[in-house]
Formats: sequence, structure tokens, C-alpha cells
Amino acid sequence: MSKKVLIANRGEISLRAIRACKELGIKTVSIYSEGDKELKSLRFSDESVCVGPADPTKSYLDAPTILSAADVTGSDAIYPGYGFLAEDYSFAEQCNLSGFKFIGPNSETIRQMGDKITAKSIVTKYGIDGVPGFNNKLPDDDDEVLKIANEIGYPLIVKATAGGGGRGMKIVRSSNELINSVQIAKQEALNGFGNDVVYFEKFIENPRHIEVQVVGDGKGNAIHLGTRDCSIQRRHQKLIEEAPASDVDKKKLDEVLENCVTLCKDLNYEGVGTLEFLYENECFYFLEMNTRIQVEHPVTEMVTGIDLVKQQILAASGERLTISQNDIKIKGHSIECRINAEHPESFIPSPGKISQYHQPGGLGVRVDSAVYQGYSVPPHYDSMIGKLITYADNRSECIARMKRALEEYVIMGINTNIQMHQKIIMTEEFKSGKYDINFMST
Ligand code: ADP
Repeated sequence: MSKKVLIANRGEISLRAIRACKELGIKTVSIYSEGDKELKSLRFSDESVCVGPADPTKSYLDAPTILSAADVTGSDAIYPGYGFLAEDYSFAEQCNLSGFKFIGPNSETIRQMGDKITAKSIVTKYGIDGVPGFNNKLPDDDDEVLKIANEIGYPLIVKATAGGGGRGMKIVRSSNELINSVQIAKQEALNGFGNDVVYFEKFIENPRHIEVQVVGDGKGNAIHLGTRDCSIQRRHQKLIEEAPASDVDKKKLDEVLENCVTLCKDLNYEGVGTLEFLYENECFYFLEMNTRIQVEHPVTEMVTGIDLVKQQILAASGERLTISQNDIKIKGHSIECRINAEHPESFIPSPGKISQYHQPGGLGVRVDSAVYQGYSVPPHYDSMIGKLITYADNRSECIARMKRALEEYVIMGINTNIQMHQKIIMTEEFKSGKYDINFMST
């Protein structure tokens, strides 16, 4: 078992990892940037190291400095969290080559599954259908590109193979827009991800976003922990997630779950992962795999009782999976609202000092957040400042509990999206559970 883990992240996920390590008797090292000296996680870890200025490219994304921090603190493993270097296969490789265990799958698995075109071709071999489209690098010749698009039909979506976070996508509704959209998507992909390879998918008009949580021990044992519905999104970014996904064709789902597990067994998948799908007309279409912990992992933890971060650490420590598929019982319902520091109408980030803070509590309420009264939300990072998670025996009680918890949540001094969540969960559409990814645009 690892003795000291360096957490190469910030905010709520750092605190989440520290909590898991403490329960496993593992010492922790936090890293922080000069813009993050007030982080709550720094007060909970055993040690902390400043890795550079507030600019994330010079701190949380600076692999050599992070590896030096692991070295000087005598850490033996590195926990990446989500975002930053979590899906950077070369960082995973550098960690392992430098003698620090990267807590996650091996670098080759991250490389293959992190590239959406490659991932789609791999999962196809396991009977998992990708969204129909052209799943190859597009040719340079415009006429060829137009021909391919005509074969797929409009509307279609241009996507970056290295894309993430809802960025690098362009919906194209007619051939007139095509070439220009491809150029823009390529440029955005190059700027955002350092890789300008784009591909085409059929644009599915009214799907739900449903994903499957998997866990493997790197030794050929793997299980799934059921589904999440993450269809409440804004600009392709998730806002509310639930587990389990309601109202899904059981036969189709069982097939997909079984195929996902077989894939992970074959890959000797180590740690946690998520296979994301669009679901429309009782069909699942694979989008991508995330080879890391997801923001929305708590809802799965609530309905399974399994600590996913501990599972990651145990797998990285070489432990065999002790949970079998039959042990997994999905019980009750859980919902997560992402609490963002942003203006309620313009959605513009709202950094600044939190003058008053009171977080909700009571039965079935969990808050994963690293903020507190007097904390200043820095302007340099993602605007998500916490996650409010509720759990209850069934979906309607879970919504009632979320309503009550949102009412209790007081965050003053900055703008937040708490009121927006209150409105969403009280709509008839949300309450009925019959919504899709277009919820926010209707
Ligand atoms: P990212 O890696 O940037 O999160 P994904 O491929 O996971 O990108 O897609 C994110 C979201 O974008 C999906 O949940 C969905 O809302 C939308 N999306 C992606 N591909 C399609 C598609 N082919 N048709 C319709 N919506 C799509």
C-alpha cells in the first residue's frame, strides 16, 4: 500500500482525495499555486508544496515541477483527480518512470482511450456502437470532406479527437457551413488541445447523456457500478447528474453494461473509468471514455455505498478487486447539483470573497466543496466551487431533499447558480424524469 500520496490537483477533488487517503492511513501532500494559498485542502493534508504562479500552465500543469514536489516530499504515488494532467498519458508515463505510481490506468490505456477516434474503434470490437459518422481523420481535400458529410447527412457535428469539457465541437446544419466549421473546429482543437484532428458524428437531436461507471484492478478483474444520467447540461457541460439513469430499456442496458465490463477486463483496466453514451429511441451510442474520476462520481457512491477514490488507490497499490458484480446493489436515488460561482443570467464567472457561507446538512445531504466563509474564489480556475449531493429511497424524495438543501445553502458575496438549480429541479419536465440534453435550451 502507498504510504504518501501527492495530490496533483486543487479544490474539492483534492479534499475528496485527502479524505480517502486519511481513511486508508496514507499521508498526503497537497500542491498549490500562488493564487491558491487559501485553499481548504491545504489545511487538511499533512504537507503542502507551492508549485508556481496562479497561471495553471505554470503550476498545476507543470509536470516537472509536480514531479520535483513528489520527490522532495518523499511521496510514492500521485493522484491526478480530474482536469489538469488527469488524462495526460505522458504525465502518467513520467510519473511511473520517475518512480511514483500514477493513480489511474497505465499510460497506454490513457493514450488509446483518450483519443476519441481510437476509443471508438476499440469499443466497436466489443459490440459497443459509436455515434454513427466518419470516425477517422478527415482528408485535407475539401471536396472529399463535403462528400463524406453528404454521406452521413445533416445535421452533423465536427468534433476534436482530443476534445474535452464540451469544447471543440461544431454543429453543422448544411453543406454551406461545412468547410468553414471544419476550419474553425481544427483551429480551436489545435489551440485548446494541441491536436487539430477532427472527425464527424451524426448530430443526434434529442438524446439523453447516459454513462456507465467501471472499476478494474489492472489484473483482468472489472465490474460496473451502474449508470448516471447527465443530460442537464449547458453548452455541453454537465450541471446536474443523477444515479441511476431512470427509464432505460433493460435489455439494451444489460448488454451495454456487460460489454463495458468485458472491454475493461480485456484492457486490464486499472482504477475507475466512465464510458459515456448518447441514448435515443432505446439505442446507446458510445461517445467517449474518461479514464479518471468524474466530477459526478458521488452520485454513484451514494447508490452503491462504494468509495470510488479508495478503489482507485487500492488498485494502484496492487490490490485485487474484492467486490464482485453480484455485490453491487443499486439502492435508492442520488442527484448532484454543480454549484458554480457565476452570474445567474450571463453565466459569466463570479470570483471574489465569500462573505457568508452556510452549507446544508441533515439526512441524505452531502456537500463536496473546499470553500468556506472568508475564502476568495480565485479568477484563474474553473468556476465550480462545490457539489451538492442528495440521496433518498426514491427519485421524488431525492428531489424534495435537493429542494430543501438548496434552500438551506447560503453563499454571499459572489454570484452562484443555486437559484438556477432551484428552478430546474422544480420544473415538471425534471420532476417527470423525461428530459434530454436540450433541457436548458427549451
Ligand atoms: P467532451 O469530451 O467535450 O465532454 P463529449 O463527446 O463527451 O465531449 O460530448 C459532450 C456532450 O456534447 C454530450 O453529452 C452531448 O450533449 C453533446 N454531443 C456530443 N456529441 C454529440 C452528437 N453526436 N450529437 C448530439 N450531441 C452531442
